[in-house]
Amino acid sequence: MLLKGASLVHFHPPGLVKADLRVEGDTIVARGPRLRPKRDEPVEDCRGKLILPGLVCAHTHMYSALSRGMPGPTSAPRAFPDMLARVWWKLDQALDDESIYYSAIVGAVEAVLAGTTTIVDHHASPNAIPGSLDIIREAFGVVGVRGVLCYEVSDRGGLRRRDAGLAENDRFLSATRSDPQFRGLVGAHASFTLRDTSLAALGDLVRYHRSGVHIHVAEAKEDVERTQTAHGCGIIDRLERQDLLNDHALLAHGVHLNDKDLARVGARGAWLVHNPRSNMNNGVGHAPVERFGERAALGTDGWPADMLAEARFAHVRLRERLGLRGAFPVASLLEGGQQLASGLFGVPFGSLAPGCAADLVVCDYVAPTPLSAGNLGGHLLSGLQPAMMTGVMAAGRWVCRNGVPVNIDVEAVYCRARQVAAAVWRRMRG
Ligand SMILES: [Zn+2]
Repeated sequence: MLLKGASLVHFHPPGLVKADLRVEGDTIVARGPRLRPKRDEPVEDCRGKLILPGLVCAHTHMYSALSRGMPGPTSAPRAFPDMLARVWWKLDQALDDESIYYSAIVGAVEAVLAGTTTIVDHHASPNAIPGSLDIIREAFGVVGVRGVLCYEVSDRGGLRRRDAGLAENDRFLSATRSDPQFRGLVGAHASFTLRDTSLAALGDLVRYHRSGVHIHVAEAKEDVERTQTAHGCGIIDRLERQDLLNDHALLAHGVHLNDKDLARVGARGAWLVHNPRSNMNNGVGHAPVERFGERAALGTDGWPADMLAEARFAHVRLRERLGLRGAFPVASLLEGGQQLASGLFGVPFGSLAPGCAADLVVCDYVAPTPLSAGNLGGHLLSGLQPAMMTGVMAAGRWVCRNGVPVNIDVEAVYCRARQVAAAVWRRMRG
């Protein structure tokens, strides 16, 4: 397929170049000013349009897709762990196979409509663990989005569930070793819900599969305090002791990490994922994202996987905290997600160059002001909207055309999803 005449975007450092792109299979194979169509090659006229590299949501929970409009707790939670116990752990315990499927498919549809072509998910369903990651894989496969999946291991549900979670990660990592569309990670909840023996078992899995842990780190201050009280050390000490910090490790939040912690995380090449909307909504504090270093990405942590919306929150929150002198290129976090995906899939993402994954977003963006590489950040933050994303391609296949997902009947899926969500909410009350 030949995409002709678009301006190609690079997030960071910002780039904007007019060129044609040729896609063969799941890869971009050529890029140039005037590529000539081959015989019988489909040609897409993209004149006047932007093409972005596909966006990556580096941390989220698809199971929360069916929580929209869900009745809240009868009284306000006292603090973050109380919120987990009274809302999110009730929701994940109410999940069954069908609700896992529908939450994943609804979340994936919302993602591709916003140009997100890779979703890094962190899943929990304590009463439906075995095979749960395959259900998400099936739902993502239907929509056409790429997935990096894991099961959240914790000690909150006892040994049997902990071991089932470890086994689910182990099984999925083996099954997706060479899958072009999916990868596994070793999922873990957080330091404050994991005893030493469980962290050691996670470390064994990471070493065996040469993978990385995907874990919440210092999201709320209680994770730091409870770790100190129970283990007499910091969260990063515990992760280091079990050899869990490596260049595939993905640490979500990092709100309460100090500079010493951040330096140790950076020295091991682990990724930090910033989730500004979630942090604000849970009132857990301000993440020091400007000190996260180069290996930093953006996640939505249960909010719809609209990465440009998340980038806007990251930007305004940084401004609010640091003032006008606190300039930080939030587009570097979008680029970070693409680098993270490159490391996981072993293929370059993010630069729309020959040899890169054919994951891209065609945007019908008519700029009302001059547009150049130099002011691209301003257009990304205050101009581009999902409604302008008319074509979304993941792994070389169109997953949205004219702003509509191509592989599924959205109306029928949402109709069943509403029934499934109502049943989940009833189980939560029971
Ligand atoms: Zn999370």
